[in-house]
Amino acid sequence: MLRFAQNCEAIAATTKKLQKAAIVAEYLKSRNEDEAAISAVFLSGRAFAAWEETTLQIGGSLLWRAVAELSEKDESALTAVYRKHGDLGAVAEEVLPHRSGQGLKILEVADAFRQVAAARGPAAKSALVRDLLARATPLEAKYIVKIMTGDLRIGLKESLVEEAIAKAYGAGLAEVQRANMLLGDIGKTLRLAVEHNLANAKMRMFHPLGFMLSSPVESAEEGLTYFAEAAVEDKYDGIRAQAHVSGGVVKFFSRTRDEITESFPELPDALAGLPQDAILDGEIVAWEYPQDLARTQKVVDESPSEAGEMKAMELGRARPFSVLQQRLGRKKVSEKMLREIPVAYLVFDLLYAGGDLLIDRPLRERAQVLDELLTGGRKVVHHGDTEAQSKVGTQGKLTFDSEEEISAASVIRAPVFFAGTPEELEGLFVAARSRGNEGLMIKDLASTYAPGKRGESWLKMKRELATLDVVVTAVEFGHGKRIRVLSDYTFAVWDMHKDRLVNIGKAYSGLTDAEISEMTQWFLEHTIEDQGFRRTVEPKIVLEVAFNNMMQSDRHDSGYALRFPRIVRLRPDKTADEADTIERVREIFEKQNSHS
Ligand code: AMP
Repeated sequence: MLRFAQNCEAIAATTKKLQKAAIVAEYLKSRNEDEAAISAVFLSGRAFAAWEETTLQIGGSLLWRAVAELSEKDESALTAVYRKHGDLGAVAEEVLPHRSGQGLKILEVADAFRQVAAARGPAAKSALVRDLLARATPLEAKYIVKIMTGDLRIGLKESLVEEAIAKAYGAGLAEVQRANMLLGDIGKTLRLAVEHNLANAKMRMFHPLGFMLSSPVESAEEGLTYFAEAAVEDKYDGIRAQAHVSGGVVKFFSRTRDEITESFPELPDALAGLPQDAILDGEIVAWEYPQDLARTQKVVDESPSEAGEMKAMELGRARPFSVLQQRLGRKKVSEKMLREIPVAYLVFDLLYAGGDLLIDRPLRERAQVLDELLTGGRKVVHHGDTEAQSKVGTQGKLTFDSEEEISAASVIRAPVFFAGTPEELEGLFVAARSRGNEGLMIKDLASTYAPGKRGESWLKMKRELATLDVVVTAVEFGHGKRIRVLSDYTFAVWDMHKDRLVNIGKAYSGLTDAEISEMTQWFLEHTIEDQGFRRTVEPKIVLEVAFNNMMQSDRHDSGYALRFPRIVRLRPDKTADEADTIERVREIFEKQNSHS
């Protein structure tokens, strides 16, 4: 342990990362394999490998008391030393007495840690800790205490220990990182590096892998610039969770890698029956299940002829995050909570299945395997057709060929949509928002799963600026099936003196067919000037419009233009003079620019 401690001092003494890694590499090489393996764990600031559930379970105050007793210093003297260092390990080094015969082997320290972890109750743990520290030299005690508090504070991250292992045993850094990720055990990783066997590292279940992260995009247009083919999902507002399923055991881990299974007792059962071991990625959301599920099912039974349509079940919809929050951080979830705030696990990725690690396969394949896994090979219907998707207010549906899945309703494959143009993506965004979700996730179908990385393979689109109330000033006939109706509206806000309307944009989506036909009738009757394809109309109709951002532009006489404007709703409750003014537009513009 002395050599370990001395090396830690040397590592702390330099700020250069390369030098730190070189010191660690030299040190590891000088040890036998057992010592090197346990050293790697300790150097990562841990008493046990990351995957292990074992913890020492000793708090700072227990350690403090142990140091106090052994040093025979009173509280105020110890506090003064602590003020000087701000680190209990350094305090231990300064105050613990140096006696002859002290000194420990690193493997003895590892054994002692196991005993402390296994001991029940603070008294038993204290006795073991005191004994351990009494046998150590003051410098050894410094690092034993640091490991016990979980932080060496020598500027050494686990990634540097990985680098040192690669250097020491002539292995590739990427292989070392990968093995450590799969095993959650830097000690075992070191052993594989020694044996030149890193390629054979197998996924160890029940220790969480890093979560893939996303980057924001500001507009639908930007959302489609990064890759060729995108899978689009709603961005649910809940908590990210990785589920490990093996041999009927199911555990959920949060983004902070804490186990959160206890908070969601209804979820494990729904996954325990999976036909294969698996690691799933998804979002736990407070969920509103459709009340008439049972009734729908009955209809299916009674009229098998109505197959297709009737079998599709409405999955329900997410409730706001504030609702889920009431269930978080509880050890015990009451029956009442379970009933009043049911949750669902919306699964959107699969990292491992049936012995195969899938993270290096493209999303396209992972998604397919996930569909098969969750439906036992039965068909999952994705919405490929944008007409159906953009219907505001409908949650995506999964169609099953059997009713078994109904019981597993709390695990839901997150519906996947596709968009080829910014307009289609915009439609999906509006639909996701109308379902109460935060926005969209846009994912590269060709991308691998990059644990712990934030890149451009997953994009999040959630920004929506304030809406504007505008007045319709001119209308045009639409295209396609809207060729006979006045569906494209030019709209305006009031200028500074509120005596003139200044155009700011044009929008052609968002209203229902019934509303469009009613509006067409009204505009035909209130035309000021018929220019053929375009009519200026009496400025009386107020709309609420949303948009993704605002630009200064001389396209319209307001001096501003809206990006991806869309009609949120008609505002028959407002008269034209209640519409927004150019001041409000400026305000939104300023606010938007101060954010970016
Ligand atoms: P943010 O927290 O704003 O950085 O957004 C990223 C988070 O969105 C992820 O960590 C997930 O918790 C969450 N999320 C919600 N829906 C999805 C989805 N369909 N795919 C990926 N992440 C999602």
